[in-house]
Amino acid sequence: MTGSNGPPDEVLLYRGDSPKMSTDALSREQRSQLMSHVRHEGTKPELVVRSLLHRVGFRFRLNRKDLPGTPDIVLPKYGVAIFVHGCFWHRHPGCNMSTTPKQNAEFWKEKFEHNIIRDAQKKTALESLGWRVVVVWECETRNIEELASKLCAFLKDEV
Ligand SMILES: [Zn+2]
Repeated sequence: MTGSNGPPDEVLLYRGDSPKMSTDALSREQRSQLMSHVRHEGTKPELVVRSLLHRVGFRFRLNRKDLPGTPDIVLPKYGVAIFVHGCFWHRHPGCNMSTTPKQNAEFWKEKFEHNIIRDAQKKTALESLGWRVVVVWECETRNIEELASKLCAFLKDEV
């Protein structure tokens, strides 16, 4: 329900079951922890997100096959399902990785449209079961700090 452009003014972070800590965005410690433990190159986007959530102290489950669309990461406590999407295949709007090959343009167009429709169906199905769905784009996993802020803001939204 909140605008998703840019990080919020304040981000609350939760560490396990301890009382919530309030900081503006990430503390310097958390930041350096994130940066030192998450590699930028050659790490699969989904692993980056998992590592990030773990570092910040969220508990999650993976690939819940009993849920529609088998979300990549699920945080049952928060009622949140996360999809980590490749920008090319899932057509990240306005992203420079979301290119269309010149060869076989028609083929690609159909394939992309199919993916977009399927993603939307998964989201609707999950939301109808009461899950909140968040998409993390591949390119967002290159800026760990910003991604952490986005996820923390989303997760604390309705706690
Ligand atoms: Zn992107």
